[in-house]
Formats: sequence, structure tokens, C-alpha cells
Amino acid sequence: IWYIIGPMWGLGFHINNYTQFKASGERVLTLLNEPIHIKNEGKALKLDASSTKGDVSFNDVTFNYPDKKPAIQNISINAPAGTVIGLLGPTGAGKSTIIQLLMRAYDVKHGSITVDGVNVKDLDVQSLRSIISPVFQETFLFSATIRDNIAYGIANVTDEQIVEAAKLAKAHDFIMEMPLGYDTVVGERGMGLSGGQKQRIAIARAFIKNPKILILDDATSAVDMETEHEIQAGFKQLMAGRTTFIIAHRISSLRFADEIIVLDQGHIVQRGTHDQLVHQPGPYRETYKIQFADFPGELEVAAGQKE
Ligand code: ADP
Repeated sequence: IWYIIGPMWGLGFHINNYTQFKASGERVLTLLNEPIHIKNEGKALKLDASSTKGDVSFNDVTFNYPDKKPAIQNISINAPAGTVIGLLGPTGAGKSTIIQLLMRAYDVKHGSITVDGVNVKDLDVQSLRSIISPVFQETFLFSATIRDNIAYGIANVTDEQIVEAAKLAKAHDFIMEMPLGYDTVVGERGMGLSGGQKQRIAIARAFIKNPKILILDDATSAVDMETEHEIQAGFKQLMAGRTTFIIAHRISSLRFADEIIVLDQGHIVQRGTHDQLVHQPGPYRETYKIQFADFPGELEVAAGQKE
């Protein structure tokens, strides 16, 4: 079943049996749980990866899943190329929906989403998805070598590129400690990797793909502090020069966002930078207080400081 997941991002969302993912986290599930049949319009525009800048804009988007109340309402987001947008909010707030719409898992009827000023509805779906890389909390590995897992789905990748990507993702060292290094078979029929290791493989994959737009799920709840720092370092490097949407679970990953969008029940309830939001009464500051409650010193320092 894992074989279906990788091609999905490249080729579409056709997936029939998703029951096996139930344990893999709600976020991935919501992204996978329906077969999608978006068709290209007559003269769909192909995005050229080398000349695409990665400006993203949501213009007054309201969207509801079939027969449901709106999942997001009147959402406007302006993400010039290279900026970082944080999406924060409780489960069901609409974070995944925003990402799904950007990847055109569904088309919107009210409002518009544009990439480099072009409505995504006028874009060739494959070419749109080819400039976007998602790195999710749950990473799926194929029963194949680490080398093939990193290079998955991308043509003509050299060994040097694979090693370079793994180094950037802070994965090279643990790979070299494995019995056969990059030739070690992982996945269902191979060696098991820890959550943090899998996530670093996913980051390496994203480096290889070299996307203009990056989607990061920052949840690293399952990993220890040291691994978390390594993943964060990998993320930071990966974000450089790309338009990034972070589905945020922790405030700590939002310090560097150019704009943080706080969502609740499909509405934007607050927006601004960390420094702005932390000084305003509201859900952001409340979340911040809770997450830093065990670190009273940090609460003061973090409020005024950008590392
Ligand atoms: P978040 O990612 O912030 O947890 P979602 O975007 O997943 O929020 O959900 C927003 C709303 O849309 C919720 O009410 C959720 O139940 C609904 N929703 C999400 N995915 C689907 C789907 N595939 N079909 C129907 N409703 C959905």
C-alpha cells in the first residue's frame, strides 16, 4: 500500500483504500481520504519550474466540502515568493483545507487562489503539484534502499545530489551508521527508522525535489529534544528562498514566520508576526502562555527576542 503514496503527490490523489492510514495521524488522513478527480481545463497552463517565482495568494476564499458547512470562510492570504506563512489553530480550524486547496485537491467556487498571479484553476494540475513539496509529520517509506527513498519520483538524480540532500537534512550521519549506508533497505520489509529519522528522509526528499512552495507539518511530538533541534535546523535550511506554509503545532516554530494566521472554525481570528501577536490579548498569546508555562524565563525572553 505504501507504493501508492509517493506517486500520489506527483500524479494525483487517486487512492481507493485508505483505511490502513487511520492510525497514521489525522492530518495525513484528511489529505488522503478521498479520491480526487480534478480535470485540467481545455488549455491548462503548464508551470515552468525554473521560471516560477512562487508568489501565492488566496483571495477571499470560502470553501465547503460536499454537503457540509463551510470549512474555511473569507480567507485572504498574501504570500510573496520566499515568505513564510504560519497556520495555527485547533483541530478542525481549516489548516489542512487551505493546503489541500493550494494543491488543488478541490476547486474553489467562491474567491480565487493564484500562483504567480495565475488562478490555479487555469494551471495544469501536475505541473502545479510538481512545484510544491509537502513534508508531513508522518513520512511513508517504501520498502527500498535509503538512496531510492530519498530520490523517489525524481528522474536523473546523482549519488552526489542524494548525499548532499541528506547532509542538508541532517540525515547523512545516521545513514552512514546503518549496516549498508545508503544501500540499507528500509520500510515495511527493511530496517525500521525512528520518527525523527523518517522525517529527515522526507526533508532530504524535499531538498532533491527543490520546490518553489513548501508545506511543512511541524509536529515532531514523537521525537526527543535533540532530534527536534536537528529537524528544525533542516527545516530552516529547506525554507530558504521558498514560499513556505507551516502547519504549526508549536509556537516555537513560528518565530520566523513573516505572517502567522490564527484560524478558528474556518475564520481568521488573528494575524501578524510573532512579536505583534504575543503582545496582543487573544488566542495566540494564550497558546503561547500554555506552551511556555514550564519555562517562565523563556516567556519573557522569547517575547522580545528573535534569534
Ligand atoms: P485542521 O487541518 O485545522 O484540523 P481541516 O481543514 O482538516 O482543519 O478541517 C476543517 C473543517 O473541514 C472541519 O470541520 C472538518 O471536519 C472538515 N473537513 C476536513 N476534511 C474534510 C473532508 N475530506 N470531507 C468533509 N469535511 C472535511
